[in-house]
Amino acid sequence: MADSPVIFWFRQDLRLADNPGLAAATQQGSVVPIYILDNESSGSWSMGGAGRWWLHRSLQKLEQQLHGHLRLFCGNADDILQQLTTELGAQRVFWNRCYEPWRIARDRQIKESLNLAGIAAQSFNASLLWEPWEVLKADGTPYKVFTPYYRNGCLGRNAPRNPVDPPVSADFYPSAAIVAGACRLEELGLLSRQGWYKKLEQHWLPGEEGAHQRLNDFVSTGLDGYRQGRDFPALEQTSRLSPHLHFGEISPHQIRRSLLTAAATGNIPEADLDHFFSELAWREFSYYQLYHNPHLPEAPLRVEFQRFPWLKDEGGLRFWQRGLTGYPLVDAGMRELWQTGFMHNRVRMVVVLSGENLMLPWQQGESWSRDCLWMPTWPAIPQAGSGLPVVALMLLPYFRIFNPVTQGQKSLIPWRLCPTLCARDWGFARQACMRSGGTNRLAGTGEYCPWGRLSAADS
Ligand SMILES: Cc1cc2nc3c(=O)[nH]c(=O)nc-3n(C[C@H](O)[C@H](O)[C@H](O)COP(=O)(O)OP(=O)(O)OC[C@H]3O[C@@H](n4cnc5c(N)ncnc54)[C@H](O)[C@@H]3O)c2cc1C
Repeated sequence: MADSPVIFWFRQDLRLADNPGLAAATQQGSVVPIYILDNESSGSWSMGGAGRWWLHRSLQKLEQQLHGHLRLFCGNADDILQQLTTELGAQRVFWNRCYEPWRIARDRQIKESLNLAGIAAQSFNASLLWEPWEVLKADGTPYKVFTPYYRNGCLGRNAPRNPVDPPVSADFYPSAAIVAGACRLEELGLLSRQGWYKKLEQHWLPGEEGAHQRLNDFVSTGLDGYRQGRDFPALEQTSRLSPHLHFGEISPHQIRRSLLTAAATGNIPEADLDHFFSELAWREFSYYQLYHNPHLPEAPLRVEFQRFPWLKDEGGLRFWQRGLTGYPLVDAGMRELWQTGFMHNRVRMVVVLSGENLMLPWQQGESWSRDCLWMPTWPAIPQAGSGLPVVALMLLPYFRIFNPVTQGQKSLIPWRLCPTLCARDWGFARQACMRSGGTNRLAGTGEYCPWGRLSAADS
Protein backbone atom coordinates (compact mmCIF):
# COMPACT_ATOMS: atom_id res chain seq x y z
CA MET A 1 0.00 0.00 0.00
CA ALA A 2 2.54 2.53 -1.18
CA ASP A 3 0.02 5.36 -1.13
CA SER A 4 -1.15 4.70 2.40
CA PRO A 5 1.50 5.94 4.85
CA VAL A 6 1.93 4.90 8.47
CA ILE A 7 1.71 7.68 11.02
CA PHE A 8 4.30 7.44 13.77
CA TRP A 9 3.35 9.61 16.74
CA PHE A 10 6.34 10.74 18.85
CA ARG A 11 5.46 11.39 22.50
CA GLN A 12 7.82 10.75 25.47
CA ASP A 13 10.27 8.98 23.13
CA LEU A 14 12.13 11.77 21.35
CA ARG A 15 14.84 9.56 19.89
CA LEU A 16 15.55 7.41 16.85
CA ALA A 17 17.55 4.59 18.45
CA ASP A 18 15.78 1.97 20.56
CA ASN A 19 12.43 3.27 19.47
CA PRO A 20 10.34 0.10 18.90
CA GLY A 21 7.28 1.96 17.57
CA LEU A 22 9.31 3.91 15.03
CA ALA A 23 11.28 0.81 14.00
CA ALA A 24 8.03 -1.09 13.41
CA ALA A 25 6.50 1.80 11.46
CA THR A 26 9.48 2.07 9.12
CA GLN A 27 9.12 -1.62 8.28
CA GLN A 28 5.56 -1.01 7.09
CA GLY A 29 6.33 1.52 4.37
CA SER A 30 6.27 5.26 4.03
CA VAL A 31 6.23 6.98 7.45
CA VAL A 32 4.82 10.31 8.58
CA PRO A 33 6.53 11.23 11.88
CA ILE A 34 4.47 13.65 13.95
CA TYR A 35 4.50 15.31 17.38
CA ILE A 36 1.36 16.76 19.00
CA LEU A 37 1.53 19.31 21.79
CA ASP A 38 -1.66 18.37 23.60
CA ASN A 39 -2.24 20.91 26.35
CA GLU A 40 -5.93 20.06 26.45
CA SER A 41 -5.82 16.45 27.61
CA SER A 42 -3.14 17.02 30.26
CA GLY A 43 -5.47 19.36 32.21
CA SER A 44 -3.90 20.65 35.39
CA TRP A 45 -0.82 18.47 34.85
CA SER A 46 0.47 20.38 31.87
CA MET A 47 4.18 21.01 31.53
CA GLY A 48 5.94 23.70 33.51
CA GLY A 49 8.12 26.48 32.08
CA ALA A 50 11.43 24.66 32.20
CA GLY A 51 9.91 21.47 30.80
CA ARG A 52 8.56 23.47 27.88
CA TRP A 53 12.04 24.86 27.21
CA TRP A 54 13.45 21.33 27.27
CA LEU A 55 10.79 20.09 24.89
CA HIS A 56 11.49 22.95 22.46
CA ARG A 57 15.18 22.10 22.32
CA SER A 58 14.56 18.37 22.08
CA LEU A 59 12.09 18.77 19.20
CA GLN A 60 14.57 21.05 17.47
CA LYS A 61 17.16 18.26 17.60
CA LEU A 62 14.67 15.65 16.46
CA GLU A 63 13.67 17.82 13.49
CA GLN A 64 17.32 17.96 12.47
CA GLN A 65 17.76 14.20 12.88
CA LEU A 66 14.69 13.60 10.71
CA HIS A 67 15.89 16.07 8.07
CA GLY A 68 12.78 18.21 8.28
CA HIS A 69 10.26 15.35 8.01
CA LEU A 70 8.85 15.79 11.52
CA ARG A 71 5.42 17.43 11.47
CA LEU A 72 4.30 19.40 14.51
CA PHE A 73 0.76 19.99 15.71
CA CYS A 74 -0.87 21.67 18.67
CA GLY A 75 -4.30 20.74 20.04
CA ASN A 76 -6.46 17.79 20.95
CA ALA A 77 -4.59 14.65 19.86
CA ASP A 78 -7.77 12.71 19.07
CA ASP A 79 -9.07 15.41 16.71
CA ILE A 80 -5.69 15.88 15.05
CA LEU A 81 -5.18 12.17 14.41
CA GLN A 82 -8.67 11.80 12.96
CA GLN A 83 -8.09 14.71 10.63
CA LEU A 84 -4.63 13.57 9.61
CA THR A 85 -5.54 9.96 8.90
CA THR A 86 -8.44 11.14 6.71
CA GLU A 87 -6.31 13.65 4.88
CA LEU A 88 -3.46 11.20 4.19
CA GLY A 89 -5.55 8.10 3.79
CA ALA A 90 -3.37 6.49 6.48
CA GLN A 91 -4.49 3.03 7.62
CA ARG A 92 -2.11 2.63 10.55
CA VAL A 93 -1.01 4.77 13.51
CA PHE A 94 1.87 3.61 15.71
CA TRP A 95 3.12 4.99 19.02
CA ASN A 96 5.05 4.02 22.15
CA ARG A 97 3.15 3.69 25.41
CA CYS A 98 3.00 6.27 28.20
CA TYR A 99 1.83 5.38 31.69
CA GLU A 100 0.41 8.53 33.23
CA PRO A 101 -3.31 8.12 34.02
CA TRP A 102 -4.45 10.99 31.81
CA ARG A 103 -2.42 9.68 28.88
CA ILE A 104 -3.75 6.14 29.31
CA ALA A 105 -7.33 7.45 29.29
CA ARG A 106 -6.67 9.62 26.25
CA ASP A 107 -4.85 6.88 24.32
CA ARG A 108 -7.62 4.39 25.00
CA GLN A 109 -10.14 6.80 23.58
CA ILE A 110 -7.96 7.54 20.55
CA LYS A 111 -7.49 3.85 19.86
CA GLU A 112 -11.25 3.33 19.98
CA SER A 113 -12.06 6.17 17.62
CA LEU A 114 -9.33 5.15 15.16
CA ASN A 115 -10.55 1.55 15.20
CA LEU A 116 -14.12 2.74 14.62
CA ALA A 117 -12.87 4.53 11.53
CA GLY A 118 -11.24 1.28 10.38
CA ILE A 119 -7.69 2.41 11.21
CA ALA A 120 -5.28 0.15 13.07
CA ALA A 121 -3.60 1.67 16.12
CA GLN A 122 -0.64 -0.17 17.63
CA SER A 123 1.35 0.70 20.74
CA PHE A 124 4.77 -0.48 21.92
CA ASN A 125 6.87 -0.43 25.08
CA ALA A 126 9.79 1.96 24.79
CA SER A 127 10.28 3.42 28.24
CA LEU A 128 10.00 0.73 30.90
CA LEU A 129 12.08 -2.38 31.48
CA TRP A 130 9.05 -4.23 32.84
CA GLU A 131 5.41 -3.59 31.96
CA PRO A 132 3.46 -2.71 35.12
CA TRP A 133 0.72 -5.29 34.50
CA GLU A 134 3.23 -8.11 34.08
CA VAL A 135 4.86 -7.86 37.51
CA LEU A 136 2.40 -9.20 40.07
CA LYS A 137 2.55 -11.14 43.32
CA ALA A 138 1.72 -14.86 43.35
CA ASP A 139 -1.88 -13.99 44.26
CA GLY A 140 -2.20 -11.77 41.18
CA THR A 141 -2.23 -8.46 43.06
CA PRO A 142 0.33 -5.67 42.59
CA TYR A 143 3.31 -5.23 44.90
CA LYS A 144 3.11 -2.38 47.36
CA VAL A 145 6.68 -2.37 48.65
CA PHE A 146 9.76 -1.69 46.57
CA THR A 147 12.17 -4.45 47.65
CA PRO A 148 9.92 -7.45 46.94
CA TYR A 149 8.69 -5.71 43.77
CA TYR A 150 12.23 -5.39 42.47
CA ARG A 151 13.96 -8.48 43.87
CA ASN A 152 11.15 -11.00 43.38
CA GLY A 153 8.84 -9.37 40.87
CA CYS A 154 11.30 -7.84 38.38
CA LEU A 155 14.56 -9.74 38.80
CA GLY A 156 12.61 -12.99 39.01
CA ARG A 157 11.35 -12.49 35.47
CA ASN A 158 13.12 -12.75 32.11
CA ALA A 159 15.83 -10.12 31.60
CA PRO A 160 14.63 -6.98 29.77
CA ARG A 161 15.05 -6.92 25.99
CA ASN A 162 18.10 -5.50 24.24
CA PRO A 163 17.87 -2.06 22.57
CA VAL A 164 16.44 -1.89 19.06
CA ASP A 165 18.63 -0.42 16.29
CA PRO A 166 17.69 2.95 14.77
CA PRO A 167 15.98 2.72 11.36
CA VAL A 168 18.71 2.60 8.72
CA SER A 169 16.88 3.84 5.68
CA ALA A 170 13.44 5.07 6.57
CA ASP A 171 11.13 6.03 3.74
CA PHE A 172 9.44 9.27 4.75
CA TYR A 173 6.24 10.46 3.20
CA PRO A 174 6.89 13.69 1.27
CA SER A 175 6.52 16.40 3.93
CA ALA A 176 5.25 18.97 1.45
CA ALA A 177 2.11 16.83 1.11
CA ILE A 178 1.04 17.47 4.67
CA VAL A 179 -0.20 20.93 5.32
CA ALA A 180 -3.46 21.21 7.20
CA GLY A 181 -2.94 22.08 10.85
CA ALA A 182 0.83 21.54 10.93
CA CYS A 183 2.89 24.32 12.44
CA ARG A 184 6.48 25.45 12.89
CA LEU A 185 8.32 24.75 16.15
CA GLU A 186 8.23 28.43 17.15
CA GLU A 187 4.46 28.41 16.75
CA LEU A 188 4.11 25.86 19.54
CA GLY A 189 4.99 28.75 21.87
CA LEU A 190 7.15 26.65 24.15
CA LEU A 191 9.74 29.31 24.97
CA SER A 192 8.85 32.01 27.48
CA ARG A 193 9.18 35.63 26.34
CA GLN A 194 11.33 36.63 29.31
CA GLY A 195 14.15 34.36 28.18
CA TRP A 196 14.78 33.16 31.73
CA TYR A 197 15.35 29.69 30.32
CA LYS A 198 18.75 30.87 29.04
CA LYS A 199 20.33 29.97 32.36
CA LEU A 200 19.29 26.35 31.78
CA GLU A 201 21.20 26.30 28.50
CA GLN A 202 24.47 26.44 30.43
CA HIS A 203 23.72 23.20 32.23
CA TRP A 204 21.91 20.88 29.85
CA LEU A 205 22.02 19.62 26.29
CA PRO A 206 18.54 18.30 25.46
CA GLY A 207 18.22 15.72 22.69
CA GLU A 208 19.36 12.20 21.93
CA GLU A 209 23.00 13.17 21.45
CA GLY A 210 23.08 15.13 24.73
CA ALA A 211 21.56 12.15 26.54
CA HIS A 212 24.25 9.79 25.29
CA GLN A 213 26.96 12.29 26.14
CA ARG A 214 25.58 12.45 29.65
CA LEU A 215 25.49 8.65 29.90
CA ASN A 216 29.06 8.30 28.61
CA ASP A 217 30.33 10.91 31.08
CA PHE A 218 28.62 9.09 33.89
CA VAL A 219 29.97 5.69 32.88
CA SER A 220 33.52 7.05 32.69
CA THR A 221 33.51 9.29 35.77
CA GLY A 222 30.49 8.68 38.01
CA LEU A 223 29.63 5.01 38.06
CA ASP A 224 32.72 3.87 39.95
CA GLY A 225 31.88 4.88 43.52
CA TYR A 226 28.22 5.64 42.74
CA ARG A 227 26.84 3.60 45.65
CA GLN A 228 28.54 5.74 48.28
CA GLY A 229 28.89 8.97 46.33
CA ARG A 230 25.24 9.30 45.33
CA ASP A 231 24.33 10.30 48.86
CA PHE A 232 26.51 13.41 48.82
CA PRO A 233 24.93 16.28 46.90
CA ALA A 234 28.19 18.22 46.65
CA LEU A 235 29.98 15.40 44.84
CA GLU A 236 28.04 15.45 41.56
CA GLN A 237 28.36 11.66 41.34
CA THR A 238 24.92 10.89 39.96
CA SER A 239 24.12 10.55 36.26
CA ARG A 240 21.72 13.52 35.83
CA LEU A 241 19.89 11.44 33.26
CA SER A 242 16.42 11.99 34.71
CA PRO A 243 15.18 14.72 32.32
CA HIS A 244 16.64 12.83 29.33
CA LEU A 245 14.78 9.73 30.46
CA HIS A 246 11.63 11.72 30.99
CA PHE A 247 11.56 13.03 27.43
CA GLY A 248 12.60 9.64 26.14
CA GLU A 249 15.83 10.85 24.57
CA ILE A 250 17.38 7.71 25.95
CA SER A 251 15.73 4.50 27.15
CA PRO A 252 16.40 2.48 30.30
CA HIS A 253 17.21 -0.43 27.99
CA GLN A 254 20.03 1.55 26.39
CA ILE A 255 21.35 2.63 29.78
CA ARG A 256 21.24 -0.92 31.07
CA ARG A 257 23.05 -2.30 28.03
CA SER A 258 25.71 0.41 28.14
CA LEU A 259 26.39 -0.23 31.83
CA LEU A 260 26.57 -3.99 31.34
CA THR A 261 29.05 -3.47 28.51
CA ALA A 262 31.17 -1.20 30.73
CA ALA A 263 30.95 -3.72 33.58
CA ALA A 264 32.20 -6.49 31.29
CA THR A 265 35.63 -4.82 31.35
CA GLY A 266 35.78 -5.72 35.03
CA ASN A 267 36.59 -2.16 36.09
CA ILE A 268 33.21 -1.33 37.61
CA PRO A 269 32.56 -2.56 41.16
CA GLU A 270 29.49 -4.78 41.21
CA ALA A 271 28.04 -2.92 44.20
CA ASP A 272 27.99 0.33 42.21
CA LEU A 273 26.38 -1.33 39.23
CA ASP A 274 23.73 -3.06 41.34
CA HIS A 275 22.92 0.13 43.13
CA PHE A 276 22.48 2.10 39.95
CA PHE A 277 20.19 -0.60 38.55
CA SER A 278 18.10 -0.46 41.69
CA GLU A 279 17.71 3.32 41.24
CA LEU A 280 16.49 2.75 37.72
CA ALA A 281 14.08 0.25 39.24
CA TRP A 282 12.78 2.99 41.56
CA ARG A 283 11.77 4.83 38.42
CA GLU A 284 9.97 1.70 37.23
CA PHE A 285 8.32 1.29 40.62
CA SER A 286 7.03 4.86 40.54
CA TYR A 287 5.35 4.24 37.18
CA TYR A 288 4.13 0.91 38.51
CA GLN A 289 2.48 2.60 41.48
CA LEU A 290 0.95 5.21 39.25
CA TYR A 291 -0.42 2.55 36.91
CA HIS A 292 -1.98 0.51 39.72
CA ASN A 293 -3.12 3.59 41.70
CA PRO A 294 -4.21 6.12 39.07
CA HIS A 295 -5.64 8.40 41.76
CA LEU A 296 -2.16 8.87 43.24
CA PRO A 297 -1.52 12.34 41.76
CA GLU A 298 -4.55 13.71 43.56
CA ALA A 299 -4.96 11.59 46.66
CA PRO A 300 -2.62 10.10 49.24
CA LEU A 301 -1.90 6.40 49.09
CA ARG A 302 -3.12 5.92 52.64
CA VAL A 303 -6.64 7.15 53.22
CA GLU A 304 -5.96 8.39 56.74
CA PHE A 305 -3.87 11.21 55.24
CA GLN A 306 -6.90 12.60 53.44
CA ARG A 307 -7.68 14.38 56.69
CA PHE A 308 -4.17 15.79 57.11
CA PRO A 309 -4.48 19.42 58.30
CA TRP A 310 -2.50 21.25 55.58
CA LEU A 311 -2.04 24.97 56.12
CA LYS A 312 -2.55 27.89 53.78
CA ASP A 313 0.67 29.80 54.32
CA GLU A 314 1.63 31.98 51.35
CA GLY A 315 4.56 33.51 53.25
CA GLY A 316 6.00 30.15 54.16
CA LEU A 317 5.55 28.88 50.62
CA ARG A 318 7.40 31.88 49.15
CA PHE A 319 10.32 31.47 51.52
CA TRP A 320 10.50 27.79 50.76
CA GLN A 321 10.43 28.42 47.00
CA ARG A 322 13.13 31.05 47.12
CA GLY A 323 15.46 29.12 49.37
CA LEU A 324 15.14 31.44 52.35
CA THR A 325 14.24 28.99 55.06
CA GLY A 326 17.42 29.28 57.06
CA TYR A 327 18.35 25.65 56.53
CA PRO A 328 21.50 25.62 54.41
CA LEU A 329 20.77 22.27 52.76
CA VAL A 330 17.19 23.18 51.90
CA ASP A 331 18.12 26.67 50.70
CA ALA A 332 21.11 25.56 48.65
CA GLY A 333 18.92 22.90 47.03
CA MET A 334 16.04 25.24 46.24
CA ARG A 335 18.40 27.80 44.73
CA GLU A 336 20.22 25.22 42.69
CA LEU A 337 16.86 24.04 41.40
CA TRP A 338 15.87 27.55 40.40
CA GLN A 339 19.14 28.24 38.64
CA THR A 340 19.84 24.90 36.97
CA GLY A 341 16.59 22.91 36.97
CA PHE A 342 18.21 20.14 38.99
CA MET A 343 17.97 18.97 42.54
CA HIS A 344 19.92 16.06 43.97
CA ASN A 345 17.93 13.09 45.27
CA ARG A 346 19.07 13.49 48.87
CA VAL A 347 18.20 17.18 48.82
CA ARG A 348 14.79 16.38 47.33
CA MET A 349 14.01 14.12 50.23
CA VAL A 350 14.94 16.73 52.79
CA VAL A 351 13.27 19.59 50.94
CA VAL A 352 10.00 17.75 50.41
CA LEU A 353 9.76 16.46 53.91
CA SER A 354 10.71 19.84 55.34
CA GLY A 355 7.97 21.39 53.18
CA GLU A 356 5.58 19.03 54.84
CA ASN A 357 6.91 19.95 58.19
CA LEU A 358 5.75 23.43 57.31
CA MET A 359 2.45 21.69 56.57
CA LEU A 360 2.27 23.15 53.07
CA PRO A 361 -0.13 21.22 50.82
CA TRP A 362 2.07 18.96 48.71
CA GLN A 363 0.36 20.07 45.50
CA GLN A 364 1.89 23.54 45.95
CA GLY A 365 5.36 22.08 46.17
CA GLU A 366 4.73 19.81 43.22
CA SER A 367 3.50 22.65 41.06
CA TRP A 368 6.58 24.77 41.86
CA SER A 369 8.96 21.92 41.19
CA ARG A 370 7.22 21.08 37.93
CA ASP A 371 7.73 24.65 36.77
CA CYS A 372 11.43 24.47 37.55
CA LEU A 373 11.99 21.15 35.74
CA TRP A 374 12.51 19.40 39.01
CA MET A 375 9.26 17.64 38.32
CA PRO A 376 9.70 16.62 34.76
CA THR A 377 8.76 13.06 35.54
CA TRP A 378 5.45 11.77 36.66
CA PRO A 379 6.81 8.63 38.24
CA ALA A 380 8.22 10.48 41.15
CA ILE A 381 4.90 12.07 42.03
CA PRO A 382 4.34 9.71 44.90
CA GLN A 383 7.66 10.90 46.21
CA ALA A 384 7.88 14.48 45.06
CA GLY A 385 4.28 15.22 45.72
CA SER A 386 4.34 14.26 49.28
CA GLY A 387 6.57 12.60 51.75
CA LEU A 388 3.49 10.93 53.12
CA PRO A 389 3.15 8.61 50.17
CA VAL A 390 6.93 8.11 50.35
CA VAL A 391 6.70 6.84 53.86
CA ALA A 392 3.71 4.80 52.89
CA LEU A 393 5.73 3.11 50.14
CA MET A 394 8.69 2.60 52.37
CA LEU A 395 6.56 1.46 55.28
CA LEU A 396 8.13 4.06 57.56
CA PRO A 397 6.14 5.88 60.19
CA TYR A 398 5.06 9.32 58.89
CA PHE A 399 6.86 11.20 61.65
CA ARG A 400 10.25 9.77 60.71
CA ILE A 401 11.61 12.63 58.67
CA PHE A 402 15.07 13.74 57.65
CA ASN A 403 16.46 16.38 59.93
CA PRO A 404 17.50 19.18 57.55
CA VAL A 405 20.34 20.36 59.79
CA THR A 406 22.09 17.07 60.43
CA GLN A 407 21.46 15.95 56.85
CA GLY A 408 23.15 19.13 55.68
CA GLN A 409 26.15 18.44 57.87
CA LYS A 410 26.40 14.83 56.77
CA SER A 411 25.86 15.11 53.08
CA LEU A 412 27.98 18.11 52.09
CA ILE A 413 25.91 21.01 50.91
CA PRO A 414 26.15 21.97 47.23
CA TRP A 415 27.33 25.52 47.94
CA ARG A 416 28.39 26.15 44.37
CA LEU A 417 25.45 28.39 43.60
CA CYS A 418 24.93 29.99 46.98
CA PRO A 419 27.95 32.09 47.92
CA THR A 420 25.98 34.30 50.29
CA LEU A 421 24.29 31.40 51.93
CA CYS A 422 27.65 29.79 52.41
CA ALA A 423 28.77 32.78 54.51
CA ARG A 424 26.10 32.01 57.09
CA ASP A 425 27.17 29.71 59.84
CA TRP A 426 25.49 26.73 61.36
CA GLY A 427 24.35 28.85 64.24
CA PHE A 428 21.95 30.52 61.85
CA ALA A 429 20.46 27.21 60.86
CA ARG A 430 20.11 26.20 64.47
CA GLN A 431 18.50 29.50 65.35
CA ALA A 432 16.06 28.90 62.55
CA CYS A 433 14.94 25.77 64.26
CA MET A 434 14.01 27.49 67.46
CA ARG A 435 10.53 28.49 68.32
CA SER A 436 10.17 32.25 68.36
CA GLY A 437 7.12 32.75 70.46
CA GLY A 438 4.79 32.07 67.54
CA THR A 439 5.95 35.14 65.63
CA ASN A 440 8.11 33.23 63.19
CA ARG A 441 10.76 35.95 63.58
CA LEU A 442 14.31 34.95 64.34
CA ALA A 443 15.73 36.12 67.63
CA GLY A 444 18.37 38.78 67.04
CA THR A 445 17.91 39.45 63.32
CA GLY A 446 14.10 39.69 63.27
CA GLU A 447 14.19 37.80 59.94
CA TYR A 448 11.06 35.91 58.99
CA CYS A 449 11.52 32.24 59.60
CA PRO A 450 8.87 29.87 58.37
CA TRP A 451 10.48 27.10 60.36
CA GLY A 452 9.52 28.64 63.65
CA ARG A 453 7.11 25.80 64.14
CA LEU A 454 9.90 23.33 64.71
CA SER A 455 11.03 22.87 68.24
CA ALA A 456 14.61 23.03 69.44
CA ALA A 457 14.49 19.27 69.91
CA ASP A 458 13.99 18.82 66.18
CA SER A 459 17.42 20.22 65.46
C1 LIG B 1 10.99 13.68 46.86
C2 LIG B 1 11.53 13.20 45.55
C3 LIG B 1 11.11 13.77 44.36
C4 LIG B 1 11.58 13.32 43.14
N1 LIG B 1 11.13 13.91 41.98
C5 LIG B 1 11.56 13.42 40.80
C6 LIG B 1 11.10 13.94 39.59
O1 LIG B 1 10.31 14.82 39.56
N2 LIG B 1 11.54 13.44 38.44
C7 LIG B 1 12.46 12.44 38.41
O2 LIG B 1 12.86 12.00 37.34
N3 LIG B 1 12.92 11.90 39.54
C8 LIG B 1 12.50 12.38 40.72
N4 LIG B 1 12.96 11.83 41.89
C9 LIG B 1 13.90 10.74 41.82
C10 LIG B 1 15.37 11.18 41.86
O3 LIG B 1 15.59 12.08 42.89
C11 LIG B 1 15.81 11.84 40.58
O4 LIG B 1 15.41 11.10 39.47
C12 LIG B 1 17.31 11.94 40.60
O5 LIG B 1 17.75 12.79 41.63
C13 LIG B 1 17.76 12.45 39.33
O6 LIG B 1 19.12 12.53 39.35
P1 LIG B 1 20.00 11.57 38.51
O7 LIG B 1 19.43 11.37 37.16
O8 LIG B 1 21.38 12.14 38.61
O9 LIG B 1 19.86 10.21 39.34
P2 LIG B 1 20.76 8.92 39.40
O10 LIG B 1 21.14 8.71 40.80
O11 LIG B 1 21.85 8.96 38.41
O12 LIG B 1 19.71 7.78 39.03
C14 LIG B 1 19.52 7.29 37.70
C15 LIG B 1 18.08 7.35 37.34
O13 LIG B 1 17.32 6.50 38.19
C16 LIG B 1 16.05 7.09 38.44
N5 LIG B 1 15.92 7.34 39.86
C17 LIG B 1 16.91 7.54 40.75
N6 LIG B 1 16.41 7.69 41.99
C18 LIG B 1 15.07 7.59 41.86
C19 LIG B 1 14.01 7.65 42.78
N7 LIG B 1 14.19 7.83 44.09
N8 LIG B 1 12.75 7.53 42.30
C20 LIG B 1 12.51 7.34 40.99
N9 LIG B 1 13.49 7.25 40.08
C21 LIG B 1 14.76 7.38 40.51
C22 LIG B 1 15.99 8.38 37.67
O14 LIG B 1 15.36 8.14 36.43
C23 LIG B 1 17.46 8.71 37.48
O15 LIG B 1 17.70 9.51 36.37
C24 LIG B 1 12.51 12.27 43.12
C25 LIG B 1 12.96 11.71 44.33
C26 LIG B 1 12.47 12.17 45.53
C27 LIG B 1 12.98 11.58 46.79
